[in-house]
Amino acid sequence: MKPFTYERATSPAAAAAAVAQRPGAKFIAGGTNLLDLMKLEIEAPDHLIDVQDLKLDQVEETDDGGLRIGALVSNTALSAHPRVRRDYGVLSRAIVAGASGQLRNKATTAGNLLQRTRCPYFYDTNQPCNKRRPGSGCAAIGGYSRQLGVIGTSASCIATYPGDMAVALRVLDATVETVDAAGLTRSIPIAEFHRLWGTTPHIETNLARGELITGVTLPKPIGGQHFYHKVRDRASYAFALVSVAAVVQPDGTGRVAIGGIAPKPWRVEAAEAAMPQGARAVATRLLADAKPTQDNAFKIPLTERTLASVLAQAKA
Ligand code: SF4
Repeated sequence: MKPFTYERATSPAAAAAAVAQRPGAKFIAGGTNLLDLMKLEIEAPDHLIDVQDLKLDQVEETDDGGLRIGALVSNTALSAHPRVRRDYGVLSRAIVAGASGQLRNKATTAGNLLQRTRCPYFYDTNQPCNKRRPGSGCAAIGGYSRQLGVIGTSASCIATYPGDMAVALRVLDATVETVDAAGLTRSIPIAEFHRLWGTTPHIETNLARGELITGVTLPKPIGGQHFYHKVRDRASYAFALVSVAAVVQPDGTGRVAIGGIAPKPWRVEAAEAAMPQGARAVATRLLADAKPTQDNAFKIPLTERTLASVLAQAKA
């Protein structure tokens, strides 16, 4: 690990300003992803701004009946919160499906959104990787790509966004709240938070340099039955090959987003109109532009089958 300096931030705007002013600086909170990346020298910040004292660890009711989740609320606390369990079950289930109990105790809401891909070549510093070193190439294209993306990928990168929580947030139409170095706040719809890779896979979100996530807002509850089905290679502590977050209403309409297949939680609102017709009709529209590799073509039928299982459970 490369040497670095460290400070504890005293306010969100001061933290944002500190990172904005220093190119090698990064925020740290739970550190469940960043520290691993630093040990491998995939991330090598020369200065860490610890935001854990910023009192962003509350879940509060909003005026319209929704919830505002502080950026530092732990994954464990959020998944167990009574309002989340009652009104946003898809979110609670998605969080519990991720990582391990120890990691969820330490991981934060903001950090979960910002976790980086688990493409094996991204972690192997002997391999070319446009995400780790822009312009160096992509070892996964033409390499082993079983876990990688089938849609929304590019000629520069075929990795996936690895998280579970954000897939549920996409179904719930959450909004990410931020503050920048000037103290200005903004709200970013979750649909616009993560980027497709294009030619710049090292830029993963639409956050500006130094912009700090302060919270996530959920709109008022939409009712319905909530599901998060995650298919993976072992029963726990594994990333999704395919995951389905869905809210299904009594008349068979609803919302669905897919994890494990794209650079961001994959939701196509126009496809949801086909939910009453069944999983094949939805999956055909959701995955119309898919470009799987030979190794990961199985994710196309797996998506349809996982969605079929959700819709059958909803019907039952
Ligand atoms: Fe790197 Fe993306 Fe290629 Fe993986 S798929 S090696 S993360 S550029």
